[in-house]
Amino acid sequence: MKIMFKKQGISPAVTEGGTPRVHFTGLSAGYPGRTVLHQLHADIPALAITALVGPNGSGKSTLLGVLAGVIRPTSGELRHLGNRPPAFVPQRGAVGDALPLTVRQTVEMGRWGERGPWRRLTRQDHTTVDRTMERLGITDLATRQLGELSGGQRQRALIAQGLAQESDLLLLDEPTTGLDPEARDRIASLLAELVADGVTVVQATHDLEAARSADTCLLLSDGRLAGQGDPEQLLSSSTLSQI
Ligand code: ADP
Repeated sequence: MKIMFKKQGISPAVTEGGTPRVHFTGLSAGYPGRTVLHQLHADIPALAITALVGPNGSGKSTLLGVLAGVIRPTSGELRHLGNRPPAFVPQRGAVGDALPLTVRQTVEMGRWGERGPWRRLTRQDHTTVDRTMERLGITDLATRQLGELSGGQRQRALIAQGLAQESDLLLLDEPTTGLDPEARDRIASLLAELVADGVTVVQATHDLEAARSADTCLLLSDGRLAGQGDPEQLLSSSTLSQI
């Protein structure tokens, strides 16, 4: 099993023309005593939105965990063609309601990877946090507790935490599930803007509308790749009925 990070910056050849940000081949992974993902081969294109789609339990979150570096593959090769570690935005439900964290503290945690939790953030870190909150339209919510927010506001705080890491690869687990249509649209536009600004986005989603508006799609079924490519074609009712 090999995991490789490219050491230098991304060359123009890598960022243009559908070249991959992540490439994996023969990738298997899972949990102790249980293989969940079986021999996956795919590219995640740079500067695009990739949707991970599939029934519950098909391995979407596990694949995100592997891309994030949280779960180690048991075999195969995973190659990151970027120069920053990925930023992982977990499902909203995985972040406890009762956590006594303000929105600002949540976003500041995105800087811990650089500073460590016990080191003071620098002036530059605070500027990054301010800019990110502004970008996500949550500056006014800075002192509110995470548990008091609406689903859409909380999702924006979590995305801000990911963005504050200043990564070029944002991995999101079900960012729009359970949100009202207005909040969903807001997240969708935001993700499109991030891509225009140089970020590669991968989102696991149950939201067919979000999946259809992605640039490309990986369809998982029982831990295997059931298809990849254009979401409109892949997510036709005839394909979906087969998985
Ligand atoms: P999805 O995101 O598509 O719903 P998951 O990746 O969460 O799928 O789960 C894939 C399979 O892995 C499921 O059968 C699930 O029960 C199992 N699984 C998920 N997390 C764990 C874990 N921490 N330990 C053991 N099995 C797990």
